[in-house]
Amino acid sequence: MTFKDFDFKEKLQKSIFDAGFKEPSPIQRDAIPVILSGKDIVGQAHTGTGKTAAFGLPLINMLDGNGSVEAVVIVPTRELAMQVSDELFRFAKNLSINTATVYGGQSYSRQLKHIDNAGIIVATPGRFLDLLRDEKIKIAPKFVVLDEADEMLDMGFLDDIKEIFTFMPKERQTLLFSATMPSAIKALAKSILIEPEFITITQSEITNSKITQTFYVVEEHERDDALIRLYDFKNPEKSIIFCRTKKEVDRLSTFLVSQGFSAKGLHGDMEQRQREEVINSFKKGKLEILIATDVAARGLDVNDVSHVFNYHLPFDSESYVHRIGRTGRAGKDGMAVSIVTPHEFRMIKKIQSDTGGKLEAKVIPNISSVK
Ligand code: ADP
Ligand code: MG
Repeated sequence: MTFKDFDFKEKLQKSIFDAGFKEPSPIQRDAIPVILSGKDIVGQAHTGTGKTAAFGLPLINMLDGNGSVEAVVIVPTRELAMQVSDELFRFAKNLSINTATVYGGQSYSRQLKHIDNAGIIVATPGRFLDLLRDEKIKIAPKFVVLDEADEMLDMGFLDDIKEIFTFMPKERQTLLFSATMPSAIKALAKSILIEPEFITITQSEITNSKITQTFYVVEEHERDDALIRLYDFKNPEKSIIFCRTKKEVDRLSTFLVSQGFSAKGLHGDMEQRQREEVINSFKKGKLEILIATDVAARGLDVNDVSHVFNYHLPFDSESYVHRIGRTGRAGKDGMAVSIVTPHEFRMIKKIQSDTGGKLEAKVIPNISSVK
């Protein structure tokens, strides 16, 4: 199957060709025809499987391009707002459709000016709701998308999202996309979508994918040594290290830099400008190691991440799936490496049973000799 099999406008086909997309991913293959038919859908597929284009392409195809805001895409974070907006604009620009981003921390007037000539708004829930409440924007979009819905709920946006929908027209097509499908998402879908079709790309892509998952058992005080040792013998080109707390991110980045690594931290307490700088230099390959909290790394689309390290395991399997989904993207191989202490075995077992993945135990030779 190719994108030519979809009944897309010629100009959109050209954008898809220019973007270098050849084959639709499974979620695109299944979701696009249903969206084009006008139905509400709930789409679930693992991180990095092309959910943005799965809703973006049919949406752009259905817009009139009449200069009014015809579609709103709601995403959890500022970084994602920019990323999704860029991805959509790639496809929309050929059809003379603009995208605008709306997120906190930037001046209202500047964002409002961009909204003026945008066909698609990509927004984070808080700022978007502010604009709606203050009647700073009056829009009647035909399409509303909730992207990365599980993350938005994790971040506490449920009430904001529900209120946003009180401002949306009743006549609309609503699409919800999520990497995971906890019951809270199903409940949300029930309350704001109308007879949605559920499209799930299952067959645990974790087990299927090209991500090799391993874990190394160490004592608590050996984590730093283990990490250095792992870097020495795996020699990753581009890697992300996940920590549980911002404090740990800061400490570990200072430590790795002191050991001569090209590493920087990324977390929510950093200024927006600083975060963008770090992400950009990581994307461009100027920075080799990104050390991040779960929240900071959500949905980040960085290509070519060869290794993901869990300095500490996350608290739940869903976060684990999100984390390791940073590697092995676009059909490439990836390694997910976790550092665990013996009392975390239960978590490893739980992750395996929840995801259907296989984590292989490995041994770091001479860990105690590392200095
Ligand atoms: P998700 O939202 O499922 O995590 P994204 O929409 O961010 O995934 O897509 C991940 C990456 O894959 C992006 O860089 C995107 O441009 C690319 N991509 C998406 N669909 C295709 C496709 N059909 N062919 C090639 N690359 C694709
Ligand atoms: Mg996405």
